[in-house]
Amino acid sequence: MNQEKLIEKSSQYLWLPFTQMKDYDADPLVIESGEGVYLRDIYGNEYLDGYSSLWLNVHGHRNEEINSAIKEQLDKIAHSTLLGASNIPSILLAEKLIELSPEKLKRVFYSDSGATSVEIAIKMAYQYWQNIGKPEKQKFITLKNAYHGDTVGAISVGQVDIFHRVYKSLMFHSLVAPFPDVYHHAELDDEDEIRDTALLELEAILEEHHHEIAGMTVESLIQGAGGMNIMPKGYFKGVEQLCKKYNVLLIVDEVATGFGRTGKMFAVEHEDVQPDIMTVAKGITGGYLPIAATLTTEEIYEAFYDDYTSLKTFFHGHSYTGNQLGCAAALANLEIYERENLIEQTQVKKAIIQNLLEPLKSHPHIGDIRQLGMICGIELVAYKESKKPFLWEDRVGYRTTLKMRELGMLTRPIGDTIVFMPPLAASGKELEKMVEIMSEAIEITT
Ligand code: PLP
Repeated sequence: MNQEKLIEKSSQYLWLPFTQMKDYDADPLVIESGEGVYLRDIYGNEYLDGYSSLWLNVHGHRNEEINSAIKEQLDKIAHSTLLGASNIPSILLAEKLIELSPEKLKRVFYSDSGATSVEIAIKMAYQYWQNIGKPEKQKFITLKNAYHGDTVGAISVGQVDIFHRVYKSLMFHSLVAPFPDVYHHAELDDEDEIRDTALLELEAILEEHHHEIAGMTVESLIQGAGGMNIMPKGYFKGVEQLCKKYNVLLIVDEVATGFGRTGKMFAVEHEDVQPDIMTVAKGITGGYLPIAATLTTEEIYEAFYDDYTSLKTFFHGHSYTGNQLGCAAALANLEIYERENLIEQTQVKKAIIQNLLEPLKSHPHIGDIRQLGMICGIELVAYKESKKPFLWEDRVGYRTTLKMRELGMLTRPIGDTIVFMPPLAASGKELEKMVEIMSEAIEITT
């Protein structure tokens, strides 16, 4: 089919996620193939994948080992249900996940997206308290600006105003604690003070409400869709300690941060945080297939383990839960981590990125550069000194990413913060090219 026809049909039939279709119709893009860190559109234009195809690609596109693992599995079976029956790749992957994750986590419950893994975490925590005879613990506490996905449960612990305000009456009510946002803090600029104040406010909420709180949801060390905001040192550990003190389950969302993105296999390792429940998705299959998982402790698992007639069963599942192709892809993905010492390599790449971004710090319209491993947010502002943002309606971030696309690189902004999250496999040269394109685009649009 010719390219114009495809473009026409994409506008005629598709409705794309998180996309104002009027924007898409003005600048349509249809990807046809990929190779390494490059994506190729139907006209043969190549783009560096500066957002890891939405924060998930690890080893690049068309990785031979992952492709072969999927093909090999396909010759055995593509899918059979996990309801009441297991399958070989799902068993092997569960064992591997438990081996890699914090010590406290012993059980794996599969799903198919980051949001569903969070949805499951919420329901699991809620039912846990019912099953052990504390049904009054029903509420959740979350952080300002949190993002945990788009299902109704996940948005109920979400706090990104622009995404969530329209659904307010549809969501269950969560208690909200402040996020220790260092760059955007209105009054304080000392990191330690910001951390301590936020922990004090969290403790005040827990003190008052702990008897009715089932769990606290928290993105691991960095808030992603809320603007790439990194917690000050010690805050995350403080949250863990407070949850323990007030008998509230700590639900850590590693959907965006898991599998090496922050320079450790999981971001919890930076502060040795041991969650009661941890959600993983995105990088789990190297960015190839939709698999996600909710990991939990033996104690929580045991609370559901009883005679059927006790009605303690976790009545939750999806048709494609534990899909064999996805689990086989994930196993192949994780083998590459081990063989190539990928986590150590991310340390080297983190330093390369840091050096490449250093000269941008003095740019008059770059207010802040936030980097955690291979996750970066470059915040554009109208006035550097006062941190005054550009006018919202000017869409400077969006226009910058459109310009980057013209120059040969894809990413998406969060407001006026440019997300730079390359695949872990990106070479030094490729990282250099990406930063070059980003700098040029920023220069043009600001
Ligand atoms: N949790 C976090 C921290 C995320 O960043 C995301 C997606 O970006 C999600 C959950 C939702 O994941 P998914 O898009 O796979 O539903």
